[in-house]
Amino acid sequence: MAADEKQVLVKADHVKVYFKGTDKKAGVVKAVDDVSFEIFKGETFGVVGESGCGKSTLGRTLIQLIKPTEGSVFLDGKEISAMKGNELKQIRKKAQIIFQDPSACLNPRRTIRQILMEPFEIHRMHKVMDVDARVKELLQLVGLDTYHLSRYPHELSGGQKQRIGIARALALKPDIIICDEAVSALDVSVQAQVLNLLQELKEKLGLTYFFISHNLNVVYQISDRVGVMYLGKMAEIAAYDQLYEKRYHPYTEALLSAIPQINQEGQPERIRLQGEVPSPSNPPAGCRFHTRCPKASEKCRIAEPQLKEIEPGHFVACHLYQ
Ligand code: SF4
Repeated sequence: MAADEKQVLVKADHVKVYFKGTDKKAGVVKAVDDVSFEIFKGETFGVVGESGCGKSTLGRTLIQLIKPTEGSVFLDGKEISAMKGNELKQIRKKAQIIFQDPSACLNPRRTIRQILMEPFEIHRMHKVMDVDARVKELLQLVGLDTYHLSRYPHELSGGQKQRIGIARALALKPDIIICDEAVSALDVSVQAQVLNLLQELKEKLGLTYFFISHNLNVVYQISDRVGVMYLGKMAEIAAYDQLYEKRYHPYTEALLSAIPQINQEGQPERIRLQGEVPSPSNPPAGCRFHTRCPKASEKCRIAEPQLKEIEPGHFVACHLYQ
């Protein structure tokens, strides 16, 4: 698809999500701090970053499970961050989420049939449509058999439970699904099967994914474009192949250097970052990465770099390219 033919499905415009700390010392936690980007219809936008960088908070804000402190979120051109009540409930049909731990989000006292009925009951659709047929169709879509309908979650394997999580997310025919570390809790072989399933469903149903992972290798396998987050900010955004070819931000370089290459000659030297990720309640001034960046200069300690398009579709927030 040519760049000018792409349709924006989701737009985050200067989104900030701040939380009050649990005690006075903790202050305000700036989980997401002035993030703007777009997700195109039919793409998988992968977001990667270390634990605590704000990627899950951002994902939940995109579908309004969390309200932004400032800024706006648009879905299909409508500002959903300004919606409330029934209007917002209707949007939930269009925007769903798959969580990391399927065991924690499937009610252990309900059968798989009851679990898959829930979305239709919440939206009062069970009386006006053939929900049984739809539930069977959902099971088929995720590669499970109808005999699973009478089972309870504890009777299923981890991979099967995640398939149920995916089926539930698909129930109301959403446009976008937030995959929040959706394969992180699975064994590597099951992980590959679930990634393949997500890819097949995307093509078959015309879905759009916001795919969150701390593992760049996993994000690479499924994403069309990748956003790299560091301490509540987007550090770099680019198409998968652009990023593979040339990454600019020193943080992205460090993340990528940790991925083993099949061809050892193409393996970049491992960049080991020093120090811990600073607290999001007290982020460093200037560039947030300067306390760990091997290329930091005096300017980086004072001035904050802005996310700038340095090649078509390739955005970088670093003074080295501004
Ligand atoms: Fe490193 Fe400076 Fe670029 Fe930040 S702005 S990533 S500290 S070189």
